[in-house]
Amino acid sequence: MAAADFDIPELKDDIEVPKLREGVMAHVKTFPAPKAVQDFMGYPHELVEDWKERAIEKMGDLLGKYRSLKVFLDACVHCGACTDKCHYYLGTSDPKNMPVARQDLMRQVYRRYFTPAGKLFPKLVGAKDLTKDILDEWYSYYHQCSECRRCSVFCPYGIDTAEITMAGREILNHVGIGQKYSNEILGKVQKIGNNLGLPGPALEDTLAGLEEDIEADTGVPVKLPMDVKGAEVLLITPSADFFSEPHVESLIGYAKVFHAAGISWTLSSYASEAGNFGLFNGNYETMRNVAMRIRDAALELGAKRIVVGECGHAWRVAYSFWNTLTGIGYGGDDPFSIELQKQLDPSYPQPQHICELTNDLIKQGKIQVDPSVNDEFVVTYHDSCNVARASRMGTEPGGQFEIPRELIKAVVNNYHDMADGTIREATFCCGGGGGLLTDDLMEVRVKGALPRATALNNVVKEHQVNFLALICAICKAQFTKVLPKYGFDMSMVGGVHQLVGRAVKLD
Ligand code: SF4
Ligand code: SF4
Repeated sequence: MAAADFDIPELKDDIEVPKLREGVMAHVKTFPAPKAVQDFMGYPHELVEDWKERAIEKMGDLLGKYRSLKVFLDACVHCGACTDKCHYYLGTSDPKNMPVARQDLMRQVYRRYFTPAGKLFPKLVGAKDLTKDILDEWYSYYHQCSECRRCSVFCPYGIDTAEITMAGREILNHVGIGQKYSNEILGKVQKIGNNLGLPGPALEDTLAGLEEDIEADTGVPVKLPMDVKGAEVLLITPSADFFSEPHVESLIGYAKVFHAAGISWTLSSYASEAGNFGLFNGNYETMRNVAMRIRDAALELGAKRIVVGECGHAWRVAYSFWNTLTGIGYGGDDPFSIELQKQLDPSYPQPQHICELTNDLIKQGKIQVDPSVNDEFVVTYHDSCNVARASRMGTEPGGQFEIPRELIKAVVNNYHDMADGTIREATFCCGGGGGLLTDDLMEVRVKGALPRATALNNVVKEHQVNFLALICAICKAQFTKVLPKYGFDMSMVGGVHQLVGRAVKLD
């Protein structure tokens, strides 16, 4: 791997609050989206002449639509409780990466144009005109937030910086400066069906190759079916599961679980993506367009259950938004939503996370596992932000923390958690979420991974952990790339269903 052109932070024993270094990350500007991408998304492709008026108008529109945004901009008392809670501040020492400072980038403009005090006495209330310099700061620092929501856990008012970041990005798109990485992906998923832009025939070839590999390895003809009408389960999984390492090992794991349990299942070439970057951009219309492909596929294939593979933000969208976006599960009163609700089997959660499905099968004795095959591993688990802080699993509070751990412990004999305060609802982001998983943001990604790398290093030193188990495609891609910068071997990164796939008995 080429040497980084920035300093890699030093791993220390503890996660330390750094001394402030004003503006050290101001140079970071993610690549803007080119014309073709912006055109497809319906946004201008360069900064429009009347950008200021349009930005203020869009802010007003968002404030009217989302009451939470207004509450978050009004409620902050600058108590400081969130200041040292963001991994990007801890890793970069730039004070504008403190959550409250990130919010203030928008709050100062909000006060100027939308509050009586800010209109009359701007200086007294910290209100500022929207200038090009401020817009540039938005572009820089709203792309140094992974929308992980860790700061909101520590805010006494529950202010969610992620929602402010989403609004910031939506306004930036609206005036013509969208992000290349996220908008390109949103184009591919809407045109082709997945974030990687893989056409159906390429997927079919890949699945056939994987079937051959599994049979050569196990002697069992485990299938990875595509577009099978009448299958019980439609599996919606991140497209990285088809091609990337270590993701593909989890896809093999899901296939083995379905085979062992005798559950008929299928993937869809039309909806071959669980990820939904519409969430990251704060554009609910785009998020709905992406989600609708899944509803269409479920109706077309006649599936009775919809199960979601290992992808953090996809599970958040599925769990928290699919019902109102698409009528999957419940919600939605258009004819297609009603038809789908009749079609789906009410005896299962709709949608259901693959970890919950597999864990239930093991607990009910419907599949057998042998954890001793994983005895070479000492495992720890990283809670993905969007699962931990923006969704649930199972029927009990905290199921999103317990079910993956229960499942891991069923298939391995050696497990150790990282330190309290770095896991569960206080989990540190991998550093690559929220649309930041792009090489042009590598400095942000590496530095933002510092708190997680510190906690991981400690559990490695104390318990000789050699496997970091994950249920998120972005976390897998991020950690395989950045953990080597901190001296870890990338082969320690893997999926929970990678461990399951090794342990499940196929006879
Ligand atoms: S990256 Fe996470 S902790 Fe940091 S400001 Fe954004 S939502 Fe808050
Ligand atoms: S913790 Fe909440 S109220 Fe306190 S400074 Fe941060 S956002 Fe504002």
